[in-house]
Amino acid sequence: MTTTQQTCSESVHRDGLRSPTRCSKQATKTENGRRYCTIHAPSYIKAKQAEWDIKFQESLAAAHQKEADNKADKMEQARRAACYPALLESLEQAVVATENYNRGDRWDYDWLEAARDVLAKAKDMKETE
Ligand SMILES: [Zn+2]
Repeated sequence: MTTTQQTCSESVHRDGLRSPTRCSKQATKTENGRRYCTIHAPSYIKAKQAEWDIKFQESLAAAHQKEADNKADKMEQARRAACYPALLESLEQAVVATENYNRGDRWDYDWLEAARDVLAKAKDMKETE
């Protein structure tokens, strides 16, 4: 009986055995009237569970943040893509106006207002990053 009192009172499952057997480690603590080794003490298990819960919550929060960041990146890409056709059109009009001017035609300003608008819109998007 002396041996039983000096070893842990927790039952453990061992490989290859169907029924749990008693933990053979040296008891180091007495909790709730029972003797436990260091890793089977209820206070140790409770503290470890609290650590795991904190780590799990941290990893969950990190995963949620990453998901939110990815969503924001995709929204920004969509906004930029929506701006692309108007930017391209303005650039084409500026090139045509410049080429015409170089050939001796008058300088055509018709495209300039739309180009300013689309440029301002594109810059606003960039500043929100
Ligand atoms: Zn034990």
